[in-house]
Amino acid sequence: MKKKRNKRRNYYRLTLQWIIVALLGYMVVRLFVDATYKPDFEAYCPFGGMQALGSYLNANSLACTMSTTQIIMGILLAVGVLLVSKLFCSYICPIGTFTEWLGRIADKFKLRFTITGIADKLLRVLKYGLLFITFYFSVTSSELFCKQFDPYYAAFSGFGDDVTVLYAVIAIGVTVLGSFFIRQFWCKYLCPLGAATNIFAFAPVFVAITLIYWIAVSLIGWQIHWAWYLGAVCLAGLLIEVSRRQGLYFPFMKITRNSDICTNCKICDKACPHGIKISTEDTVKHIDCHLCVDCIVKCPEEGALTINRKPWRWLPAASVIALVAVGLLISAYWELPTIDIRWGSEEQYENAKEYQQAGLKNVKCFGSSKAFATQMQKVEGVLGVQTFVKEHRVKVFYNPEIIDEAGIREGIFNPVNWILSEPPDGLEELSIVEIGIDRFFDTKDAFLLSELLTQNPGVFGMETSFGEPVEAKIIYDPELADPDKLKTLIEQKSITYTSGDQTVKEKTSYQVAYINPEIDKIATHEYLQKAFNPYNRAFNDYDSYNEEQLRIYTLPFAEAMRQDKQRWFAFLMSHLSDNKNIVRMTVQWQDTAPVLQIYYVSEMVSPEEIHSMLVKPNLTVHYADGSSRDIANPYSFKAFDEYQEDKFWQESLNN
Ligand code: SF4
Ligand code: SF4
Repeated sequence: MKKKRNKRRNYYRLTLQWIIVALLGYMVVRLFVDATYKPDFEAYCPFGGMQALGSYLNANSLACTMSTTQIIMGILLAVGVLLVSKLFCSYICPIGTFTEWLGRIADKFKLRFTITGIADKLLRVLKYGLLFITFYFSVTSSELFCKQFDPYYAAFSGFGDDVTVLYAVIAIGVTVLGSFFIRQFWCKYLCPLGAATNIFAFAPVFVAITLIYWIAVSLIGWQIHWAWYLGAVCLAGLLIEVSRRQGLYFPFMKITRNSDICTNCKICDKACPHGIKISTEDTVKHIDCHLCVDCIVKCPEEGALTINRKPWRWLPAASVIALVAVGLLISAYWELPTIDIRWGSEEQYENAKEYQQAGLKNVKCFGSSKAFATQMQKVEGVLGVQTFVKEHRVKVFYNPEIIDEAGIREGIFNPVNWILSEPPDGLEELSIVEIGIDRFFDTKDAFLLSELLTQNPGVFGMETSFGEPVEAKIIYDPELADPDKLKTLIEQKSITYTSGDQTVKEKTSYQVAYINPEIDKIATHEYLQKAFNPYNRAFNDYDSYNEEQLRIYTLPFAEAMRQDKQRWFAFLMSHLSDNKNIVRMTVQWQDTAPVLQIYYVSEMVSPEEIHSMLVKPNLTVHYADGSSRDIANPYSFKAFDEYQEDKFWQESLNN
């Protein structure tokens, strides 16, 4: 009988771990079979939620991918640590599960060892250092910094856009190898969430530091940057962990041993994933204990190991289920905005009204939320905005004496006038039809509509203007397209398009409300010239040069006619700005077609050198936060010599 108990498995824990593994497996498999599916592998991440809460308290903004759900999960994780134990680590964390299972394999070959003594203490510094760094950079940037190297996110997102491949590869390599050879290497030494949960277990010190900081800043008025508070919390956590290895009163629930029943067989010591010496303790207070209850399950003596001297080994798993359920319930009824920006005065808010609109696909991150706020700030009568990027939803606060809801909708709307493809030579005249479209709100809808329309090679342009429904003028070749064909395209239920090197499939739900029976005609060259959007950016201290010092390198740029190529102008400009002697880029209509003009310091750089940047397979793009990234060059410039034959450049600005 005792032998059987020894072989017993911890089904409470295993079931929850396998549910998480199955959910992740489902997301990965669906990702491959459903192109419209966009999995959010961090949808319930409590650590992301903690960072998002920090960023919200600091800057009144949420990281783009974060929602109230993660914040609630972060808060409930802390509640769980205080009341029960480090339940997320034990029952949910996919990295914890993976590294523990990996370690068990190593145990079979007797390859895993436990680090003890001073080395153990020193290595514990790492996770507090990572906690400080990830929190600091996430809060200051309103982006989840840990995504750059998080092994879990890198692996499941397929090294997605936010991942810095080098950091992530190093993190995955260190985690896999470390966890194979060293007991609980990730949890004990690297996991920043592990550090955060331990700090919650040191709650009295954590609360004391928080109170001191609050009194100093809010009551006394000292200017102390929050990074000092974060540093103090991390340092205190580290010092307590390496000196005591025990929580301070918390968690409330602990493994207890009845020495009258215990036979000192030490099976529990071997069963403990953290290698805690349970057989020598009456109460397990070790900070690494996450109440997995493996020790209770494996103990051959009924009643020798309990939780708080009660036979509650089901309690941790039940608490996990209860906390997750509570978290989902709360987050269903309560949501924090991604940004909350108000520019109206308090008196103005007293009589303000609120307008809500969902379906603004363009509002999808912190940056686009800020752009939305900037746009609405220009609308008279609007007093402030909140955005909720997960649902592409906004709230607009307005003065009803100045503007009404229709006016706000008009303020939200961004009209476009896009050339979608270049009409073939010899096509002298184009047709224009006006179509009213419902369920169309913002620029992203304009983009999706353009993708729907360009499935027909006879569609060359579109122009939208505000209306309810939105008025779209579509420019087409009547030989290849007609209003009925356009209606069929517009009302398609999904569209697949390429973005960079990715294929994207999105659901669409536009409805044609009317088709104006009057079809206009326009000469092709007249339409192209009218619809072309010029581009002009100066950089690298352009104003510090005089006309004598500068030359213009001019190239024919037919691709620039198309809206899908115009999207990349800023990226091309950023790429060119790498050379400090290139100081301006314009794209203009010249005679019958667009040209690219690059202004450069003639004595410092040659047209050949500039051209070599244009034909590179990748463009190097620089971002406001100082980072840079290579993207595939979307343009197909010909070799330098081919343009040289055209003699298509200008020697000086005065020529
Ligand atoms: S508590 Fe005692 S009897 Fe139970 S496994 Fe540990 S050492 Fe053996
Ligand atoms: S002491 Fe028991 S409950 Fe705590 S981690 Fe070890 S096996 Fe799990």
